[in-house]
Amino acid sequence: MTPALITIYSMSPYPKRPNHFGIDSCEAEVRSIFENNRVKKMSPSTQAVNSSRRAFIRNGSLFLLSASTGIHGGCNPRMPISPEQTTGIEPNVRFGLVTDIHYADKEAAGTRFYRESLGKLREAVNQFQISRPQFVIALGDVIDAADEVETEQAYLKSVSELLSSAPGQKHYVLGNHCVNTLTKEEFLDGVDQQESFYSFDVGDVHFVILDACFREDGQSYGRNNFTWTDSNIPEEELTWLASDLALGDSMTIVLIHQRLDESENYSVKNASQVRALLEDSGRVRAVFQGHSHANSLQEIGGIHYCVLAAMIEGSGVENSGYSTIEIAGDGTICVSGFRKQSDYCWLV
Ligand SMILES: [Zn+2]
Repeated sequence: MTPALITIYSMSPYPKRPNHFGIDSCEAEVRSIFENNRVKKMSPSTQAVNSSRRAFIRNGSLFLLSASTGIHGGCNPRMPISPEQTTGIEPNVRFGLVTDIHYADKEAAGTRFYRESLGKLREAVNQFQISRPQFVIALGDVIDAADEVETEQAYLKSVSELLSSAPGQKHYVLGNHCVNTLTKEEFLDGVDQQESFYSFDVGDVHFVILDACFREDGQSYGRNNFTWTDSNIPEEELTWLASDLALGDSMTIVLIHQRLDESENYSVKNASQVRALLEDSGRVRAVFQGHSHANSLQEIGGIHYCVLAAMIEGSGVENSGYSTIEIAGDGTICVSGFRKQSDYCWLV
């Protein structure tokens, strides 16, 4: 029997289609994975099986990653899909994710093509109108820096107006570039959001939005008062997080711009303290992050830490990145990536 693999593919809105991974040779690879019965060892009941499940999921992640990046068999990144390509099978929860849009009306610099971000975001919104996520999260750095408050506000208005036509509620996670010239209050006003860290529930899943845009001395970022490597979760937010996680035991997903899974420039300085809180709660299954702009997935202390590809990097929509995340009734989490965003599935 191959229950987990079948579950993973049948819960996706895009399975069993020749173009699932872009070209037919990739369909052949998917078939060969099925036909090789790599998951035959799986059965839901023994300890030994747990390790074979993990091994398979690692293999599965690798396979899916390579399918998306073209390393393994020449598969192309997934292109946007049309409505007739969906199966209509609904997961327990589905949400859309975009990160590091960095929109600004200014000349490109290096690999960052600021003006193109609106076109890339428009494609993602069109995709979300087809795949119908229940809500959409912008995972930080939605705009890039300008000298004037009014200019950054105009950039933010362009992004939020465009994103507002995607289905469901929008949640904005603060990134360092969101509050460069703007204050947090000005940014939150611009997206009609009350808080920079808070939680909410959709279906059986609890979602926690964190704000790591604080200096080590506890001061909020804003008005160019910080260096981007000085990212922290202050005491007050840690206290709130601990009490929020203690209030229930449902499966929890955390969203944060800066990274909690490394200890370098892109990380929250007190990341290990935050990870300990997440692990101690026993309910956190995944942390989605942006900030370092490249795909990454690793497991620490039983929690998967996933970094999403930045929308800003590279010219042309083919260099965009965005995803829909699906959580099945059994807790399986799948990232369906578009353009440069990798695909992943893992069981929890
Ligand atoms: Zn960024």
